[in-house]
Amino acid sequence: MSTPPSSLRVAIIGSGPAGFYAAEALQKAAPGIAIDLIDRLPTPFGLVRGGVAPDHPKIKSVTRIFDRIASQPGFRYLGHVQVGTDVTVEELRARYHVLLLCYGADADRALGIPGETLPGSHAATEFVAWYNGNPDYAGAAFNLAAREVAVVGIGNVAMDVARILVKPTGALAATDLADHALKALAESSVRTIHIVARRGPVQAACTTPELREFGELDGVDVVVNPRDLELDTASEAELAAMEDRNPAKNLEVLREWAARPRTDAARQVVFHFNASPVSLAGTEHVTGMTVVRNRLESDGNGGVKAIATDETYDLPVGLVFRSVGYKGRALPGVPFDERKGVVPNIDGRVVEAPGSTTAVPGLYVAGWIKRGPQGIIGTNKLCATDTVTQVLADIANSAVPSLDPSLSTVDSLLAERGVTVTSWTDWQTLDRAEQARGAASGRPRVKLTNVQEMLDIVAASR
Ligand code: NAP
Repeated sequence: MSTPPSSLRVAIIGSGPAGFYAAEALQKAAPGIAIDLIDRLPTPFGLVRGGVAPDHPKIKSVTRIFDRIASQPGFRYLGHVQVGTDVTVEELRARYHVLLLCYGADADRALGIPGETLPGSHAATEFVAWYNGNPDYAGAAFNLAAREVAVVGIGNVAMDVARILVKPTGALAATDLADHALKALAESSVRTIHIVARRGPVQAACTTPELREFGELDGVDVVVNPRDLELDTASEAELAAMEDRNPAKNLEVLREWAARPRTDAARQVVFHFNASPVSLAGTEHVTGMTVVRNRLESDGNGGVKAIATDETYDLPVGLVFRSVGYKGRALPGVPFDERKGVVPNIDGRVVEAPGSTTAVPGLYVAGWIKRGPQGIIGTNKLCATDTVTQVLADIANSAVPSLDPSLSTVDSLLAERGVTVTSWTDWQTLDRAEQARGAASGRPRVKLTNVQEMLDIVAASR
């Protein structure tokens, strides 16, 4: 593969794992390549900062790799730049040979049930963003005066949300959980978390280490109904055919819990399998949830689907989090597949419309906005590297657009519009400020959750 010319300009939108891994793959192929990594926040790292649970610090240590990528020649961080508002996609495409979209998939999916829009019913994404200090959610409030809470869905996000709700705050105090969340959770009245999974234990989307953590929490009983672990024939067949060992391991953990005697612990996590919410009760805020029992049957394709029965029951919950997956948002000037919630693409080359095979020159995509919201952080490395392979092939074939050299630079365009662009050096200043605040109270950092405060700290340091 030929090396890209030194005059080549690349912009990556979104500084989460996909954005950084894409930058790394480009740097490996063309050391010194000019990359502008654009993010709407002065703080980088996307879901590593704003999604990974604060009590999973090992997962966050991947930022050390990202720091190294950011230190390479040619790399610039353009923070506090909102693409679509401060600068359009068209303006960026006119100024970069390659525009790589890595802006993730942060919109939530709805359940579509009566009562879902009542106060007290939230997307799990809101709670995650709040406890992780995302400035957009710093002012959010959740009814933590409720004694019982439902979390709908049984993926890893549901596990994170349920664990943060049930974990004693003493165990969270040494993490980088946002200060406002730590204070609110310390006063929480929540005692019971109901995890409502529409299918059975074999189909649970969570991974075993995340599931197992509930059994290791002090002062928490895990409640599993042994009847829920008696597998129907479709689930037996699915399990037997699976190469993935995760479901069998999940089942083992759940069987162990089902056999455990209750300790009358102060808090409990109750698993409801084969159960779907059908409505939320309440007038001014959520006061309960009606759940229908499902039966499982083969979907005819080797999978298992849930079919509602006539049997329902009520849960007296005052707070509900739906954690049923994410989807991407459309970005003006970029084709979008509304049904899948992704930017339509073939192997990372953006195409003109869903189903089209015509690539949009110079426009690429990686990460959740390319393939949908699945996988662990490392999955994005492969995903971004695959996209960069197409980018490099297009460069080698002169299939990226040429630019009009008379156009103003992005820097001058943003300056004319009065946008305060923050750099990697500015992030390092913020990073040090957060760590210094944390050191005072034995925490890894106290996150800054207000963009204006971030900009003030940056301005004072310049
Ligand atoms: P997910 O893994 O896709 O789980 C979504 C859950 O929602 C599934 O249990 C699904 O059940 C359920 N669901 C979907 N529609 C539903 C409906 N209408 N009614 C009831 N339940 C419904 O998604 P996620 O938890 O948002 O996680 C996204 C990705 O991030 C995953 O790949 C996850 O592993 C990853 N992640 C990893 C970690 C970690 O490694 N620690 C932490 C957080 C997130 P069905 O299976 O029946 O569709």
